Amino acid sequence: MNVHDSERLAGLLEDAGYAPVADGGEPDVVVLNTCAVRENADNKLYGNLGHLRPAKTANPDLQIAVGGCLAQKDRGEIVRRAPWVDVVFGTHNIGSLPALLDRARHNQRAEVEILESLSTFPSTLPARRDSAHASWVSISVGCNNTCTFCIVPSLRGKERDRRPGDVLAEVEALVAEGVLEVTLLGQNVNSYGVEFGDRYAFGKLLRACGAIDGLERVRFTSPHPKDFTDDVISAMAQTPNVCHQLHMPLQSGSDAVLKAMRRSYRREKYLGIIEKVRAAMPDAAITTDIIVGFPGETEADFAETLDVVRAARFSSAFTFQYSKRPGTPAAELADQVPKEVVQERFERLVALQDEISWELNKELVGRTVELLVSAGEGRKDTDTRRLTGRARDGRLVHFTPAGDAIDTAVRPGDVVRAEITYAAPHHLVSDAPLVSHRRTLAGDHTEQGVRPKTAGVGLGLPSFGPPAATTMTTATTGAVSGCTIR
Ligand code: SF4
Repeated sequence: MNVHDSERLAGLLEDAGYAPVADGGEPDVVVLNTCAVRENADNKLYGNLGHLRPAKTANPDLQIAVGGCLAQKDRGEIVRRAPWVDVVFGTHNIGSLPALLDRARHNQRAEVEILESLSTFPSTLPARRDSAHASWVSISVGCNNTCTFCIVPSLRGKERDRRPGDVLAEVEALVAEGVLEVTLLGQNVNSYGVEFGDRYAFGKLLRACGAIDGLERVRFTSPHPKDFTDDVISAMAQTPNVCHQLHMPLQSGSDAVLKAMRRSYRREKYLGIIEKVRAAMPDAAITTDIIVGFPGETEADFAETLDVVRAARFSSAFTFQYSKRPGTPAAELADQVPKEVVQERFERLVALQDEISWELNKELVGRTVELLVSAGEGRKDTDTRRLTGRARDGRLVHFTPAGDAIDTAVRPGDVVRAEITYAAPHHLVSDAPLVSHRRTLAGDHTEQGVRPKTAGVGLGLPSFGPPAATTMTTATTGAVSGCTIR
């Protein structure tokens, strides 16, 4: 969500006449888009601001803006601790950034503007997309749940849903410019419709995406188990362009811990959903988030988490050691688990999950998978000259771009089919000649260095073009994705 907000900030600034700073160049504006969900978010922000101070001293015209969750939380505290900051804006008013920069420049003083509720749905703002082939599309913001470890509801507010027509118009506009894959985004994506009274709205939205010509892959993140309805599983199984991939946060396999977390499903319900998903889509890759060492977690509770992990057979999991987030109810709980206990449990969980991930990956050796070629996802690719792509189920595959099937050259955004020759716990490798290669408009755009730029509002059409004058740089200092804590 934060990463997508950064795309919106970049789009807004471009429309206001700013341009991305060239590599090695000096920016006129630096925007830090913060995430309070990340561990040590405060230290990272103030550390980054400390690093920017000499640049501000050397160039007093440099403007520094701080936005996102941490700005929403710390507000004026940011300019008190770092008086060289020019603008602070919150999660509810990202559209105000250009005006706040102007005001700060004109008034020669810091401008702090934090709203208590959403002023403009972020998707009504322009966005400069980072990728020519895959795009985020927000369907809702905020969350009506009250998980005790999570700061999101207090910083992002209650759930606000976009109208389905607006969501689909944005998807169609992106596809018209060559985008092949969209990920529907929401803090709690499958409660979509709660605001306009249709609990089946999310399944309907998936099916409607299935009717968009040229849209090859639809993903979504993150669903909440409590809101998971069977119609979503049917929609996933029956809509050909919806990928058989499900990221569904578990957080804990212990009912007692789930209760303490105020997660209102229990392990049986969670495993029941997985069973239904597998019955409808035997090839589905299911991933999750798990927190280890939530306050009060006993060894028996943790053993239940391991049990669920064994039963669910996740293809991968984001595992986290619980750490206090100031401002959350769980941070006040007395029975915090000692750090060394958390560490030891965490290592056992990671070892078990790695074993399962590897077993599942090994089953894919010898199979041919379709890959949407991505840009720079594998650190080793430069040495091995392999490229990287994502399979339809979300798995990361490094492949050798070789063989007669290649049409000129394989570019990010193109689609290839490759035979898996090797499996590791966290990725797959294909060193066989490619089975097929399809050049795409997204590949052309990657090659030409152009990116879709949605103009905002429901019916906005994307446009391409060179940006304008003043230089800016945007950094996302963390990422919030629904229930995912990264
Ligand atoms: Fe909402 Fe997810 Fe946070 Fe729970 S963890 S409050 S569902 S955003």
